[in-house]
Amino acid sequence: MAINFKKMVVGRHAYAKAWKERGGGKILGYFETYFPEEIAYAAGVLPVRILAEHEPDLISDKWIYGACYPVKDMANQLLLGRMDYINGLVNTEGCQWMFNAYEVVTNNRPGLFNHYLFLPDYTNSATSKDVLRSELDVFKTKMEDWTGNSITDEALDNAIEIYNKNRVLLRRICELRRAQKPVITGSEYMHVLLADQIADKAEMNVILENYITELENREPGRDTLRLMLIGSETWDSGLEELIESSGGNVVIDELDNGTSYFWNNIYPQKDRLMAISLRYLDRPHNPVKDSNWRRRPEHIFRLAEDYHVDGAIIQKQIYCHLHGTDNYAVWRLFRERNMPFHYLERDMFVPKEETALRIEAFMNMLREGATRLAGWHKKALI
Ligand code: SF4
Repeated sequence: MAINFKKMVVGRHAYAKAWKERGGGKILGYFETYFPEEIAYAAGVLPVRILAEHEPDLISDKWIYGACYPVKDMANQLLLGRMDYINGLVNTEGCQWMFNAYEVVTNNRPGLFNHYLFLPDYTNSATSKDVLRSELDVFKTKMEDWTGNSITDEALDNAIEIYNKNRVLLRRICELRRAQKPVITGSEYMHVLLADQIADKAEMNVILENYITELENREPGRDTLRLMLIGSETWDSGLEELIESSGGNVVIDELDNGTSYFWNNIYPQKDRLMAISLRYLDRPHNPVKDSNWRRRPEHIFRLAEDYHVDGAIIQKQIYCHLHGTDNYAVWRLFRERNMPFHYLERDMFVPKEETALRIEAFMNMLREGATRLAGWHKKALI
């Protein structure tokens, strides 16, 4: 039977509780996709991403006034006890708003195991890999003390293999989106990714393998305008669905909880922690970890070319300082290379009518023959 990933995301709390009841170990919530899940997994712990909901609340303003809505919502859910099955929380150095949510929750829930994992913002200095390796070593010891399980090389190898396989499966699905008529829509893909971030990867790998077989047997999808989604992370498929109802399809993204989550693998080496350190320092970076020489815009542009997109939507959560200060670099590159893009800010909800109108207007500008923006990739070849 076809798996419904949207239901899996909605039912994630029940999934986590059932995982625990099946004799699983502890559950560790994490905020940033820079968190090295493999180490927790090797200790028999289930790492689950804290996903934002869309719930107006009366709590978070008291603690983190003026933060972006995802962070306020995460704090709200955790303070209300919606994830009371979580035994601990970990925050990896990254977005400062996320760190604020971590602090607020751990200050108010002193019984929770907690750990702050430093990951250098300057990811490619000569010492970054050694700094991170030593941080991973501290975290490994802390996991061992917390769970009472020793993290052997064999356990780390097993976790690395399972996580690498998971990334390959997600990439295989992503590659199907390169087709002229992709068998999977952008909204379906977003649900797959969100479900992946709350599930036990060994179980998810079986689900994904079956799903790939299902996708490969599907009839080709629609031949539509192909869009790319960039910017602050999203927690639903609202934007993708609006784009689909306007006759387009998101065929690729560069979101922290999208393709950047799984894009690169761990290359095993004898020093397992170094192998993990190199993977996390080498992944496609969000703005706070991008180097002085701006790798992120080039990575975005390469994705745009490889997935043959007609235009890009840059969406920013209101009060997202990371993307607010980084968008200029993406805009500059797009303008230099004649890539059409549309910028929009969003809050807890995507305002439906207004956003649909804007997206439709942008897509009309991309349609063949409609305006000068049509066919940017052909222009670039001249
Ligand atoms: S939306 Fe921006 S500010 Fe908010 S948590 Fe994400 S990266 Fe941080």
